[in-house]
Amino acid sequence: MSSKNPNVPDLAPPTAITQTQPSHKYSLSTLGVHGDDPINSSTDVAPALHVSTTFHYPRDPNQLHPTDDLDIPDRPPGGPITADSHIYSRLTAPNASRLELILTQVLNGAPCLTYASGLAAFHAMLVYLHPRVVAIGAGYHGCHGVLKIYQKLTNCKIVDLFDEASWDNEAEGFSLGEGDVVHVETPVNPTGNAYSIRAFAEKAHARGASLTVDATFAPPPLQDPFALGADFVMHSGTKYFGGHSDMLCGVLGVSKARAEWEKDYWGLFGERLHLGAVMGNMEGWLGVRSLRTLELRVLRQSESAGELVKFLQRAVQGEDGSEDGKAVKAAVASVEHASLQAEDMGWLKEQMPNGFGPVFALHLKSGEFAKRLPSKLHLFHHATSLGGVESLIEWRRMSDDTVADTLVRVSVGIENWEDLKRDIVEGCKALVAESA
Ligand SMILES: *Cc1c(COP(=O)(O)O)cnc(C)c1O
Repeated sequence: MSSKNPNVPDLAPPTAITQTQPSHKYSLSTLGVHGDDPINSSTDVAPALHVSTTFHYPRDPNQLHPTDDLDIPDRPPGGPITADSHIYSRLTAPNASRLELILTQVLNGAPCLTYASGLAAFHAMLVYLHPRVVAIGAGYHGCHGVLKIYQKLTNCKIVDLFDEASWDNEAEGFSLGEGDVVHVETPVNPTGNAYSIRAFAEKAHARGASLTVDATFAPPPLQDPFALGADFVMHSGTKYFGGHSDMLCGVLGVSKARAEWEKDYWGLFGERLHLGAVMGNMEGWLGVRSLRTLELRVLRQSESAGELVKFLQRAVQGEDGSEDGKAVKAAVASVEHASLQAEDMGWLKEQMPNGFGPVFALHLKSGEFAKRLPSKLHLFHHATSLGGVESLIEWRRMSDDTVADTLVRVSVGIENWEDLKRDIVEGCKALVAESA
């Protein structure tokens, strides 16, 4: 009989990762469900939620090898982590590691790290790359907030992404080059318009700089920024990866086309340990639940947004003479969405072959209309954020003072799009009736 303390189980020797190589490369929907199979070590079909912050060292003293926290673990970047190799949850934890394992495959093999939020991922990226010059356009205002904090600490120069002449400034003695960052958000907040990743990758690389892409608005399978030259891709995982408006998460992927991509991955991994902005256990668990349906949700949401935009654009242009079309035309001045960038379809179809994203913007005929429309709707929640299964609309002035007060941002959920269309049409009718 063994006299072991029942509270301290004998830890099995490291659980071998049995990775049976599939006979062919799995597609996105299969990876979302099976990408984490290699680390399954119990009979659970639905993975457990692990809340422990700390994990047993081996019982066998001969197995105790003191290490520096930052010694590079014996595993590939973004690869499977054995169940017994966790030490402390600021370094790695079971649910976050499981999520990273799936994300790495979902992002086409680019090793991924998760963070407490999208902004924490953006911050970590800046701290790691340590640029002296950053080119950035409009876009999510929170990223500009992070960049200002980074600028406070480093005195970096912030230049206009769309004005390449501003990237070099002889008078101030700087020029965007080696080690610097060109940051592109596409499709961009709040309009859903897209920019060419390839074009900015070429500009950045010609100068020895890195191209970083905020791809939050177009997760897989809509867009693969790595295939178009991105060095680092960040996502607010709070949006489509989470997909249910119930978790904060940031994701950062490193391009394997970079000469020192493994060093980049482990550098970010080591800095995350000390920045401390790791994602919570509950979020890791929820994130895995969410990735199971990523492709289903995102394709449906993008397709529905495309249908709504088509209807709204025809109405606004006066091409839809129906009562519904006229109601929309009376309230809405214009529509913005990547699907309407007719002149860009050459590169845009290559960049977004599977749909143009579930977010679009409407410019109402007045600020008052934009403020009042959300309250007229029944299916769209009036709330900030996007990417969830439920459709949202936001009078964007509520959270961003840099946009016109006539703009509402629409995030299309997984509801039936014709129900959503009816809701918008009836909302427009109510608006117009009220102002008559
Ligand atoms: C929401 C969002 C962020 C910030 O992500 P959080 O998870 O809220 O920190 C960054 N970029 C874009 C484009 C976003 O929509």
